Amino acid sequence: MPPYAARVRIFDGHNDALSRLAGAGPDAPAGFLAGDGAGHLDLPRAAAGGLAGGCFAVFTCAPPDAAYADGSYLAAVPHAPAWREAMIQIGLLRCLERGSEGRLRIARGVADLDGPGLAAVLHLEGAEPIGPRLEELELLHAAGMRSLGLTWSRPNAFATGVPFAFPGSPDQGPGLTDAGRALVAACRELRILVDVAHLNARGFWDVHALQDGGPPLVASHAGAHSLCASPRNLTDDQLRAVAESGGVVGINFHTGFLRADGADDPVTPRALIVAHAAHVAEVAGIDAVALGSDFDGATMPEELGDAAGLPGLLDAFRAAGFGEDDVAKVAHGNWRRVLEATWTA
Ligand code: ZN
Repeated sequence: MPPYAARVRIFDGHNDALSRLAGAGPDAPAGFLAGDGAGHLDLPRAAAGGLAGGCFAVFTCAPPDAAYADGSYLAAVPHAPAWREAMIQIGLLRCLERGSEGRLRIARGVADLDGPGLAAVLHLEGAEPIGPRLEELELLHAAGMRSLGLTWSRPNAFATGVPFAFPGSPDQGPGLTDAGRALVAACRELRILVDVAHLNARGFWDVHALQDGGPPLVASHAGAHSLCASPRNLTDDQLRAVAESGGVVGINFHTGFLRADGADDPVTPRALIVAHAAHVAEVAGIDAVALGSDFDGATMPEELGDAAGLPGLLDAFRAAGFGEDDVAKVAHGNWRRVLEATWTA
């Protein structure tokens, strides 16, 4: 009998493995399947960590590192190269599915979340690959996309994402454009999850109003603003709105969104992830708490390391007093409930 922790299924709300693989040469997909130890996530480490599912982001407009320092990451990204990059990253995930011999499948429906191996939910992070008439959305859905974030941390034709400057409020910039409202409505029709991570406060409340009585409101990888005043984190009012909609906040493991000083510092205890989760539970209830690692896209606490460190993180939840039923909700149950409510509504 394995230890209890080894049997807890985990669903992780966000990783950037596809961006990493797209930038890593032709052998990268085989490396992911065999376990190349690069980044934070590959298939053997997912299995070692008990990862039963996760959202794989298609992120088409990653800025060079230098762009963060001079603010040029905020510049708009043109549609054509974003579309081309989306095709590459979606193609990569389909290659992984085919090459995995059943160990990884793209989750197109609820039943796909429950099998053995890793259920990969295809997520679009930033709607730049979609044009104003939204035809591309149909093709992305046909390719398996079941989750969409309107923006990354910059403005686009649909909405405005928050910049990273710390400390800062999420309340910066205007709400959704008319195209953004149309995109939310189209996602609802296609039963695509709408993710408010990276979105500014006015955009958040616009999505909240549009989804009223409909699909749950979800922030796939974010934290609690009252513990770390990054604009990427949600205020207590936002946390309550997410919970009232039946949604979740996937707690981001990025140290700069966890620490009170906002520092990008690997020497950060994984217990801070638990502290953000506990805050969300206190303000909004345990049903709103989930995981959203940002593996391959952020600075992880060294103590957690990578996907193989997930069972240790669950132990940190237990050490902080989370009971086994609550651990199971945070690890998998809450995400599964939200995806089922969205995809079958
Ligand atoms: Zn992100």
